[in-house]
Amino acid sequence: LMFGKARTCNIVTVPEHEPSECNIVILGAMGSGKSALTVKFLTKRFISEYDPNLEDTYSSEEAVDQQPVLVKVMDTADQDGPVNCERYLSWANAFIIVYSIDNRSSFEACQQYLETVTVYCKGLQPEAPVVLLGNKVDMERYRQVSKADGAALALRFGCLFFEVSACLDFLSVQHIFHEVVREVRRE
Ligand code: GDP
Ligand code: MG
Repeated sequence: LMFGKARTCNIVTVPEHEPSECNIVILGAMGSGKSALTVKFLTKRFISEYDPNLEDTYSSEEAVDQQPVLVKVMDTADQDGPVNCERYLSWANAFIIVYSIDNRSSFEACQQYLETVTVYCKGLQPEAPVVLLGNKVDMERYRQVSKADGAALALRFGCLFFEVSACLDFLSVQHIFHEVVREVRRE
């Protein structure tokens, strides 16, 4: 490699960076597919039966736009909406709030999470990006929440919006997590 002016410069030592970290919390009603999405992202596999009460945090070394990042995913398992949320609010760099497009009440549950998270995030520096995510698009025939309704709710809260399926292609699930990392980097 040729560095035009480099020859006249003193040697600059570039610090060895530890890979940056990105803590992502997955929220939403029971049964919306939080664990299925988390497992799909981490293993590329769809696990159809996952302990509904298990909450855990997983790590994965990812390369997003050729830059390494340690992505940590907290797969929550709350039964009654956003209660006892201190454990993830202060930990998170970003939030993914999931509903199932074939279940209207799971969509309605998102509103509470959106309120809790956006109230907490207001004025935070750096801001924590929030994604509203409609899961189970493979269940199109049983759809109860239109794409327009999802987009409108996201617009109201100023967050990103995607629809996906945990049991279809891996890349579209991975894309969402990587977009979250990009958003966190922009903050
Ligand atoms: P959680 O309670 O939000 O963690 O939901 P789970 O990940 O345990 O999923 C709840 C149920 O929905 C399970 O029976 C999953 O197999 C199913 N499920 C999850 N994601 C999808 C999806 O994208 N499509 C379909 N058809 N079923 C899904
Ligand atoms: Mg779960």
